[in-house]
Amino acid sequence: MKPSFIHSLVNDRYEDPSLFVRILREKRAFLFDIGKIDRLNPGDLQKITDVFVTHTHIDHFIGFDTLLRALLRREIPLRVFGPSNITDCVEGKLRSYTWNLIKEYPLKIEVFAIDRDRMILSSFHAENCFKRIDNGISEFNGIILKEPPFTVKAIQLDHQVPCLAFSIEEEFHINVNKALLKEMGFPVGPWLSDLKRAIREDRPGDMELMVSGKRYILDELKKIVNITNGQKISYVTDVSISDENIRKIIEFVRNSDTFYCEAYFMDKDIDRALKRFHLTAKITGRIAREAGVKNLLVMHFSPKYRALNENPEQEAMEEFRQSTFLKQGRHSAHQTQMN
Ligand SMILES: [Zn+2]
Ligand SMILES: [Zn+2]
Repeated sequence: MKPSFIHSLVNDRYEDPSLFVRILREKRAFLFDIGKIDRLNPGDLQKITDVFVTHTHIDHFIGFDTLLRALLRREIPLRVFGPSNITDCVEGKLRSYTWNLIKEYPLKIEVFAIDRDRMILSSFHAENCFKRIDNGISEFNGIILKEPPFTVKAIQLDHQVPCLAFSIEEEFHINVNKALLKEMGFPVGPWLSDLKRAIREDRPGDMELMVSGKRYILDELKKIVNITNGQKISYVTDVSISDENIRKIIEFVRNSDTFYCEAYFMDKDIDRALKRFHLTAKITGRIAREAGVKNLLVMHFSPKYRALNENPEQEAMEEFRQSTFLKQGRHSAHQTQMN
């Protein structure tokens, strides 16, 4: 099944984390965290419509200026989603420049700050020198963006400061079994779109649809389609080692096709990880295993391991790929260590 998006990290894994997600079929892309993004070419920068910021430590937000400069003349607005202080941080960036010559520029920046159960909306328009406009508050129920065929969700974690984690999920795919369609004598036509819509909207099985002037119920027509799950990507970084964070992450990233997660420290440096509010590679491996993710992609390694020629990936992967037998024993050892 063709995915509706593809994803890759902008930098190598000892450098700033930033995940670029290209939305296929639309000239559009998402960016999860905006660390140093100089490696993105101008064409890729122009595609970015939505930026999802976990928190505004410099390694996750310094690329904002690069993006701002690239998009000043763009008609399509830029949306920025982030934790409770994101609006102040965007405003701070914008106020650090002089804007008397941009009144003709079209760019509009819309900011969505997530603060517990609220999403606070603000905007900044080039035409009025990026002065902050407060646009009100809406409810935050876990979903921050729903634009079929995908949904972006967020949860709030702790990194001494609030830190968001994100997932992007595709809707399930509905494919018509053409051979079966022919066998049953059904024509190809607009009714197939009605059928797909009824399935997506989860209509009752006895709902009636017309095919070539005859009535059929939805349950009967469902036989001619195959339904496959869409892909799920999750992105988690800069998280304190706490039972609450770990429980929330496991629940949030469950069954992801790809789970991007930090492995800033190695287990031998767990004391440092606790002091700096980061996970270790081993704990990330355990989270991925317990959440049943298909692929774990670790990132955001402390640069000191490059100098030491050490690779946190190996530690994370060993933990992730443990056999079920080992899983039981090691799990309780971890629990002791965690508590
Ligand atoms: Zn970081
Ligand atoms: Zn951080």
